[in-house]
Amino acid sequence: MAAPETPAATDRTDRIVIENCSIATVDVHDTEYASGHVVVAGRRIESVGAGPAPEGLEDVVRRVDGTGHLVTPGLVNTHHHFHQWLTRGLATDHNLFDWLAALYPVWARIDEPMVRAAAQGSLAMMARGGVTTAVDHHYIHPRGAGDLSAAVIGAARETGVRFTFARGSMDLGEKDGGLPPDFAVETLEGALAATEATVDAHHDDSFGAMTRIAVAPCAPFTVSEELMRQGAELARGRGVRLHTHGSETAEEAKFCHERFGMGPTDYFESTGWLGDDVWMAHCVHMNDSDIAAFARTGTGVAHCPSSNARLAAGIARVPDLLAAGVPVGLGVDGTASNEAGELHTELRNALLINRLGPHGEHALSTRQALRLATHGGAQVLGRADEIGSLEPGKLADLVLWRMDTLAHASIADPVAALVLGAAAPVTLSLVNGRTVVENGRLTTVDEDAVARATRDEARRLARVAAEG
Ligand code: ZN
Repeated sequence: MAAPETPAATDRTDRIVIENCSIATVDVHDTEYASGHVVVAGRRIESVGAGPAPEGLEDVVRRVDGTGHLVTPGLVNTHHHFHQWLTRGLATDHNLFDWLAALYPVWARIDEPMVRAAAQGSLAMMARGGVTTAVDHHYIHPRGAGDLSAAVIGAARETGVRFTFARGSMDLGEKDGGLPPDFAVETLEGALAATEATVDAHHDDSFGAMTRIAVAPCAPFTVSEELMRQGAELARGRGVRLHTHGSETAEEAKFCHERFGMGPTDYFESTGWLGDDVWMAHCVHMNDSDIAAFARTGTGVAHCPSSNARLAAGIARVPDLLAAGVPVGLGVDGTASNEAGELHTELRNALLINRLGPHGEHALSTRQALRLATHGGAQVLGRADEIGSLEPGKLADLVLWRMDTLAHASIADPVAALVLGAAAPVTLSLVNGRTVVENGRLTTVDEDAVARATRDEARRLARVAAEG
């Protein structure tokens, strides 16, 4: 197990005072302040309330005048595939299975420098858009590609975003009845051993941890039943969370019925993959009994509306999931199926797309969309006691959104402006009390250098993939 963050970083009492801003706390009562303050002490939130900050505070290292801004909890992205940053804009008119078939041969050629650059690009794009906690579900590990897990985790540390690396895997190649080509999969034993080694090397379960690991076999049509079962046992033996894709498309449901004689949710339950330590991406094709099983077991959902629309997968039943008590967060999904790669689009599309379903205009409110992106994401990652709302004692992961420029100044309600308006500029983003974005630019890494590296590595990947 990795050592917790250094005491010097966590015991600081330096204070940052933010005042004169609108605040949406996303606490249990959805408390909002038209003009209020947030005080950060070290890595935690010390106070939140109406009006100016208390007088007489000591060790104030910075005062921020938040006039014209909305402050919210940092956004939580619960599902992504960073390596896909290098394969954006390909296979643009495909459904899931055809899209995967087109991209597997390219992804099978990734190596460590490519994955590092892709992770930096993915993280930088999200952080600029107000994401303070991110997940990478990395499921493709070509032989000889290097330590891709360490490359991604290193990139997250540099960027300063709170991070869960979901160590993915695939072991069901075409010859065994799976979807991926045989050259793109690992062996059962190899996948389990590498996943265990990643947990041992990097997982930090302390309060406020910046790096956690999850066990994350890819999907029912790319993973053997044995890897699902043993993966779940491994995760529970180590006390780490479980993540996978589930019920994404009608084709996946058909695959499960033909191969296992049951639908995806029943298959997950039979292999140990429902529980309050599990979160699953998509969950589009769910009947009432599937939703009840998720609610009964506390299984979480990463809702990815843009990707689901891009791949014509369908509309997840988010209002029904929420009504049943299922924890739901939002996910960008990989940027090969959501080229924008930022989470604001998902708040907006979660609301818009769900209103096209049977619940109409009552499907999701603007406040519910913001809640999915913050507290919902924290719940799904098992971190609702640490992040996801602005409350004293929680970690100082927060965002100041600029609302007084052309795009938003005439929208009366700041939460409606954030969710329904154009992507709002980020004036300041803190993670663990540390500045990660200032005036729309990352302070932790050189964005222009990251852009150049991702362009160069994307071109190199295209070249080696074309060589075959
Ligand atoms: Zn995905």
